Amino acid sequence: MAIEKVAVIGAGTMGNGIAQVFAQQGFHVLMIDIKKEFVERGMGAVDKSLSRLLKKEKITEDDKSRILERISTSTKIADAGDGQLVVEAVFEDFDAKTAIFKELDGVCGEDVIFASNTSSISITALGAASGRPDRFIGMHFMNPVPVMKLVEIIRGLATSDSTTETISDLSEKLLKTPIEVNDYPGFIANRILMPMINEACFCLMEGVAKAEAIDGIMKLGMAHPMGPLALADLIGLDICLNILRVLHDGLGDPKYRPCPLLVKNVEAGYLGRKSGKGFFDYSG
Ligand code: NAD
Repeated sequence: MAIEKVAVIGAGTMGNGIAQVFAQQGFHVLMIDIKKEFVERGMGAVDKSLSRLLKKEKITEDDKSRILERISTSTKIADAGDGQLVVEAVFEDFDAKTAIFKELDGVCGEDVIFASNTSSISITALGAASGRPDRFIGMHFMNPVPVMKLVEIIRGLATSDSTTETISDLSEKLLKTPIEVNDYPGFIANRILMPMINEACFCLMEGVAKAEAIDGIMKLGMAHPMGPLALADLIGLDICLNILRVLHDGLGDPKYRPCPLLVKNVEAGYLGRKSGKGFFDYSG
């Protein structure tokens, strides 16, 4: 089945980026959120992102208009029925996501593939709840979506070969690099990234070095573009903590226990950039 039209559920950070990359490669996109103001904010973010590409002369004014024209919006899941793929990018909550997939199963044709952009929820469990586990897959885009090349493709236990092939081919059409992994807690990206961030928190808590020094060593010594503590602030300390808890619960290994300093920051409301303070200060 050729994919020409895609519904993206959620117009937030990831959803609007996903809608943009599909529209840039000629796909028609329906971006859905719960309120008109949220879809408008999502469209505003796409507009701003395209304006940056225009300024860098990567696209023309005509390209920008055509890309924007390919994205329509709605506040009703029921409108998602006439595409060939749905990509879900709502907040990280199992019950919220399964409620959406159950509703989608009632309005979408049998052939329609469901993909979730979840960072940490089991694709196998979401697939089982969706009513179409063989046509269910993880399509884990990285933030910022228009910039980052990777799409981590996560196969649930029942995901079929044909679904995996379709979604991998499609990711290449988006000029991304798909890399296939099996469904275990944290997949690959977060299973490796989060313990590194957690260890950086332990180093800070134990006074091994100051935050600037920890990040400086990882940037200069390992050629990381950003230190682990600054990266945690960018991702959101609450998100990092949630993912560590998924790893700790799902794998049952004490090596994934969240650092108490990370927990304390989240309890204090120091969530990183989005709250103006995390391991570093962003109030200025
Ligand atoms: P976000 O909070 O920026 O956006 C979520 C959007 O979903 C909001 O606009 C919200 O109104 C909307 N929404 C909630 N319930 C809805 C419903 N029933 N129907 C339609 N829309 C609904 O979140 P985000 O950062 O874009 O994350 C979305 C998903 O992507 C999460 O599963 C997250 O784990 C994953 N993810 C996030 C990042 C990241 O860096 N932000 C990276 C990779 C994956």
